Amino acid sequence: MYLFKSEKQFASFLQKEKREGKKIGFVPTMGALHYGHISLIEKAKPECDIVVCSIFVNPTQFNDKKDLEKYPRPIEHDMEMLLKADCTVLYLPSVEEMYPEGKPHLKNYDLGYYDKVLEAAFRPGHFLGVANVVFRLLQKVNPDVLYLGQKDFQQIQIIRKMIEIENLPTKIEVCEIVREASGLAMSSRNVRLSDDAWNNATIISQTLFFLKENKNNFSSVSALRKEGIKMLKAIPDSIVEYLEVCDVETLRSIEISVEGKPAIILTAIWIDGVRLIDNVLL
Ligand code: AMP
Repeated sequence: MYLFKSEKQFASFLQKEKREGKKIGFVPTMGALHYGHISLIEKAKPECDIVVCSIFVNPTQFNDKKDLEKYPRPIEHDMEMLLKADCTVLYLPSVEEMYPEGKPHLKNYDLGYYDKVLEAAFRPGHFLGVANVVFRLLQKVNPDVLYLGQKDFQQIQIIRKMIEIENLPTKIEVCEIVREASGLAMSSRNVRLSDDAWNNATIISQTLFFLKENKNNFSSVSALRKEGIKMLKAIPDSIVEYLEVCDVETLRSIEISVEGKPAIILTAIWIDGVRLIDNVLL
């Protein structure tokens, strides 16, 4: 595996590969890798000649400074996982490399409704930071395909919108959510859960799967939503931020009936001081 920390060497490596007509797949991450991340690399491997994974804990997408400080950074463990996964390149830029202007000057993308609801409503400025960092990474890597996880469903729509605004040629591939045996969606933040909180957090996916399986047994979407929120609120030490049933494309709330419409249930919940998100397609 090639490791690049500085853009110069990385750029000349990529130029050479591109001249040879190699197809480049890109998996941007914030590290603390788990099998969810690795599944993106596994998806990219047979479809691309070169798989680039980046690890960069992006300060501009953290609306909570403490969350940024507490974000796990087990770089040696991450490198081992990437080596085992046979990833071609690890790009490990510094904050200075990503934001050479010092205090970051963010482009003010108009991300529309996607930047008003759900995550955006609870994490102001988060998606602007995401759109900016992904744009900067795409400029450096210039991949053919960008591999993103369904776990961060709203983030995919945000990145799609940014790619459209910037008129970039990169295609997006969405990868399924990888879960623990208990159903808990894998997340870098799970390591911060106590044993009890970890067990309690399995109720999130149980709730989502229950709602999916029983969606036709509720009199309305609002009744389904209410039941979901009730189930999540029963988790000890929890604060439910949202549970919404939304149109897959627009992310507008669906109020009347989910029948026939591609829809998704999305939720965010704090358990024992750790913020977790999950979703399920209906
Ligand atoms: P992150 O390091 O959290 O920024 O995530 C990097 C990429 O991995 C994003 O595209 C995520 O959606 C994806 N990802 C995170 N968790 C999972 C998971 N459990 N299953 C599949 N993909 C995931």
